[in-house]
Amino acid sequence: MTHIPGIVVTGASGRMGQMLIKTITDSDQARLVGAVERTGHDWIGQDVGTAMGGQPLGVTVTDDPLEAFAQAQAVIDFTAPEATLEFAALAAQARCVHVIGTTGMSDEQIAALEPAARHAVIVRAGNMSLGVNLLVQLTKKVAAALDEDFDIEVIEAHHHHKVDAPSGTALMLGEAAAEGRGVNLADVADRGRDGITGARERGHIGFHAIRGGDIVGEHDVLFAAPGERIVLRHVATDRAIFARGALKAALWGQGKTPGQYDMVDVLGL
Ligand code: NAD
Repeated sequence: MTHIPGIVVTGASGRMGQMLIKTITDSDQARLVGAVERTGHDWIGQDVGTAMGGQPLGVTVTDDPLEAFAQAQAVIDFTAPEATLEFAALAAQARCVHVIGTTGMSDEQIAALEPAARHAVIVRAGNMSLGVNLLVQLTKKVAAALDEDFDIEVIEAHHHHKVDAPSGTALMLGEAAAEGRGVNLADVADRGRDGITGARERGHIGFHAIRGGDIVGEHDVLFAAPGERIVLRHVATDRAIFARGALKAALWGQGKTPGQYDMVDVLGL
């Protein structure tokens, strides 16, 4: 009989947490074995299915991640940077595959994942969807083919609850454009946080964040030169695409050598 991996979802009550719980319980390739929320959350001690307003799922929401991880083969984590760092250490201790969807992590926080990655598989991506990861590859290709006559602008739109800007996906696209062009993103990026106050460097990579309503996630990469423009676009209309990608990553990571991976590895792009 094939072994069906047990999965814990952290941030169970969140927008992505609830979508992940639905996706895992609907799948015949994985089992939901735990749901974690922060201490003091009113879901603690409740059945997660009931807390979501549906049928009981036989999984009680806990604020003890290590106890939950000890029952599991994978942890899917879409929470917040500080929480994700704590979960990385505990997932490594429990030898669980740690799928990280959390965005807004600083370079220092990303570097701090390294000790955990010596003991466990970590799959981290600012966007878990097949479409966006294809868009990243296309962006790299187009940037490599075009010279600096083309300015590159990454324009993203999300719901008004989103805390980080630019989005993790926008940064992935900016990194891909910089890599394709053979430059360092830090040297050419204008994150557009303070608005545009004057002319911009030729060949720059700029970022623009729109926040409003219930937009799930939209990303355009604009390549603009005198006389012509190219636009690559991805529109997410359903969070299920991220949850399906994350589940795929949790299954893919089983039995892999410890280390850090991303969705390009998982999807074989
Ligand atoms: P959300 O605010 O709805 O949910 C976050 C949840 O994490 C909350 O329920 C919160 O209580 C919980 N949490 C925070 N700290 C915790 C802790 N210490 N222990 C346990 N639970 C804790 O946010 P969301 O929209 O679900 O997004 C979550 C993260 O996922 C964000 O960083 C977002 O940018 C990212 N995201 C990534 C992708 C992707 O494909 N990589 C897609 C969508 C969202």
